[in-house]
Amino acid sequence: MCGIVGYIGRREAAPLIVEGLKKLEYRGYDSFGVATVGKTLELDKHRGRISGNTKSALRLKGKIGIGHTRWATHGIPNDANAHPHLDCSGTIAVVHNGIIENYSELKRQLTARGHTFRSETDTEVVVHLIEEEYGTKKDLLAAVQTVVPKLVGSYALLVIAAKEERMIVARNASPLVIGIGDGENFAASDMTPILEYTERAMFLEDGDIATINASEVKIFNKGKQVSRPLELIDWSLEDVKKGGFTHYMLKEIYEQPQAFYNTIRSVNSDTLPGFVLNPTSITVVACGSSFHAGLIFKYLLEESCRIPVRLEFASEFKYYPPPIEGLVIGITQSGETADTLTALKQAKAHNCRTLAITNILGSSVSRLADTTIFMRAGPEISVAATKSFIAQLAVLMQLVNNISGRMCSDMLLHAHQAIEEILLIDLTDAVAACTGVKDIFYIGRGPFYAVALEGALKMKEISYIHAEGYAAGELKHGPFALLSPETPVIALCTPGETYGVMISNIKEVKARGAPVIAVGSEGDSELPDIVDIFIPIPHTSPSVQVLTSLVVLQLLAYYTAVALGRDVDKPRNLAKSVTVE
Ligand code: GLU
Repeated sequence: MCGIVGYIGRREAAPLIVEGLKKLEYRGYDSFGVATVGKTLELDKHRGRISGNTKSALRLKGKIGIGHTRWATHGIPNDANAHPHLDCSGTIAVVHNGIIENYSELKRQLTARGHTFRSETDTEVVVHLIEEEYGTKKDLLAAVQTVVPKLVGSYALLVIAAKEERMIVARNASPLVIGIGDGENFAASDMTPILEYTERAMFLEDGDIATINASEVKIFNKGKQVSRPLELIDWSLEDVKKGGFTHYMLKEIYEQPQAFYNTIRSVNSDTLPGFVLNPTSITVVACGSSFHAGLIFKYLLEESCRIPVRLEFASEFKYYPPPIEGLVIGITQSGETADTLTALKQAKAHNCRTLAITNILGSSVSRLADTTIFMRAGPEISVAATKSFIAQLAVLMQLVNNISGRMCSDMLLHAHQAIEEILLIDLTDAVAACTGVKDIFYIGRGPFYAVALEGALKMKEISYIHAEGYAAGELKHGPFALLSPETPVIALCTPGETYGVMISNIKEVKARGAPVIAVGSEGDSELPDIVDIFIPIPHTSPSVQVLTSLVVLQLLAYYTAVALGRDVDKPRNLAKSVTVE
């Protein structure tokens, strides 16, 4: 779940690695470290975040270097557990993203053979194993090739050693991309730290081990040299900068009209296989926000096509697989979500056809699924998903459109205008109502129930206020006991079949003394009179109101978190791509 970056070339490595780690911090930020090879191997690592604490790392010398920003899985965040980890002699350094599942046994054997461990991490076994092999083989590539088959688990590894003019990298079930420059090369968890230097990239596959020097990259798999396609990455450097916004999250919320429009236009039924366009039944597997996108899809597709859609948490699917058939869709922003990958593998083992929806070209899920639809959200840096969520909805709404015979193409092509309009909404009163409270409830019906879930998730992840989404009719089956004047209820109440029953639900809440903030249609003559705060959204089709009400709830969470002084882009305990189970 961490971010790793490596460099070899003509520049001083440390400043480049430090800048790269800052861009990767969204993947983990409890500690960081850098190692370089110049005349000797030098190391600097610390607990905490890299931002504002770079002085000693910048002093490291050498034109080869590796760095790591950690999201601890084994061992608390402290200086000793921070990566890179060194061998006993201090001449080999390793950074690792993932988990070495058999590390206990390896550590026991290595300790018995006289190795001294300085950390509690699973990772450190890797560098001691390499030390042994390097000692006998005197060849860093051969050493890594011998060690990797002994490792069980997930890893993206970068290895450097004193007096070696190369970096060895290896991948299994953790992302790793090699950036190809001019007389310099890069390796990283994703393209964000590399974009400034090159747009040419190769995505490694599971089992790949590569040796990289300043002018050449050689990739091996099972001992044989292999080639991986050279991809041109069209993300721009501006995409990974804040561009005048206070936070990446706000910038990414503002990029949503474009992300939605670009994605709608890129999903083309001519390129989609028959098993996607004519499904008899669909199972969606996903986690977190992607699960909520799946729930919106379920409501929309079942309503318009009467095709049954089953929605499963990817994390449950592995241990409690339901009887499945037909098309299985895995939704994962990063393309690396461990649970979603496992669920898709299981679906394939049951002979189901699989479709992946992801934002990341070359990601693991795109190699696993029978077919992949890429969203066009561009890089998303803030930990809380916003534009990737809207882009997921663009893919899913376009799928509904195509499966149902393109009944709403026009609506989808213009939806971004309503999203754009809503960005300017004034939420001052609603933010004031949310900042002082401990609990907030969100209610909605149909697809707006999914909007309620997503709105509550955004609120809790960035403001740390306890927030829960409910199907509006469920609130009275228990949660009503918690209602009081200190528990605002945010109600999504737009025109349609459930408008009347939502009004009743709102009145029931009001009768228990809880303040109601309602998101409803512009021009509604009834709702504003019965609620405490009314937030109008453009009066459009229900699907577009799903999008605009979502944006309202993202902005509400954002401004509330800012008012509370939270670290919006890097909320505590979280990391963006969840590559462990
Ligand atoms: N398992 C390693 C650790 O806890 C790496 C975690 C990560 O990917 O950040 O140090």
